[in-house]
Amino acid sequence: MDLGLKGKKAIICAGSKGLGRGCAEALAAAGVDLVLNARTASTLEETAEAIRAAHGVNVQTVACDITTEEGRAEVLAALPNPDILVNNAGGPPPGLWSDWEIEDFEKALHANMLTPIMLMKNTLPHMIDRGWGRIVNITSQSVKAPIPVLGLSNSARAGLTGYVAGTARQVAQHGVTINNLLPGIHATDRALALDGGVVKTEGITMDEAKARRQAAIPARRYGTSEEFGAACAFLCSVHAGFIVGQNILHDGGGVNATI
Ligand code: NAP
Repeated sequence: MDLGLKGKKAIICAGSKGLGRGCAEALAAAGVDLVLNARTASTLEETAEAIRAAHGVNVQTVACDITTEEGRAEVLAALPNPDILVNNAGGPPPGLWSDWEIEDFEKALHANMLTPIMLMKNTLPHMIDRGWGRIVNITSQSVKAPIPVLGLSNSARAGLTGYVAGTARQVAQHGVTINNLLPGIHATDRALALDGGVVKTEGITMDEAKARRQAAIPARRYGTSEEFGAACAFLCSVHAGFIVGQNILHDGGGVNATI
């Protein structure tokens, strides 16, 4: 399917690895030029070079922490008026409700709620003027079904979800869509880190931790970044203009809900 995106320009936050990279690759395959962000310059440049070589698109790198005001300003300076914005950042650490102080919540809120909100605030006016735009926020299945050890994620992402629900419906009349893509478990460094946490707390091996998690997923496997990226690229495509303000699970059936 031709996604109708050739020549468009996208900002991909936190995109040198994992799900963000999956989105970057899929958009680049559709002919989208990228401003690609992550903190570690070496990994970011390696990923950018691989994408340029594979897809022949322009990829500009901005190595910075997207959860800071300075970082966001650098990314926006590289591309103030993107056609497409993919919001992403690292997820908060696991723990228990009794562990966290106000500073922990502030960090999670900055990373997983306020950063995407501020990037939307800055890029929406250009999309509205142009009469076309696509925003995809990478959130989590924890928005639909809370994950006990990820209370910081449950909280911050719920705030973003509420903001998107209202804002998406205000900007849709201008040809701009905002949607959230909710990953379940995918085979990325983040999943390895979460499995590592289970290994530590429960005294089991990595293979056992993975097998246990897979058994709870109807698809009986972890998702891939490629599958996730393809879903993101479709939401950004010209075919998805009537999908507005949705929270789309990409979780192998992991969230056990009828709707
Ligand atoms: P990942 O494989 O660990 O990749 C994270 C990417 O984000 C890397 O490119 C990393 O590069 C970059 N990054 C992290 N913090 C950043 C920051 N402050 N500023 C700029 N770049 C940053 O993670 P992932 O699995 O793709 O997860 C992406 C998001 O989806 C996370 O919020 C995660 O919580 C959520 N999620 C993932 C899963 C899963 O199973 N994978 C499930 C549910 C939700 P640098 O470290 O070099 O900055």
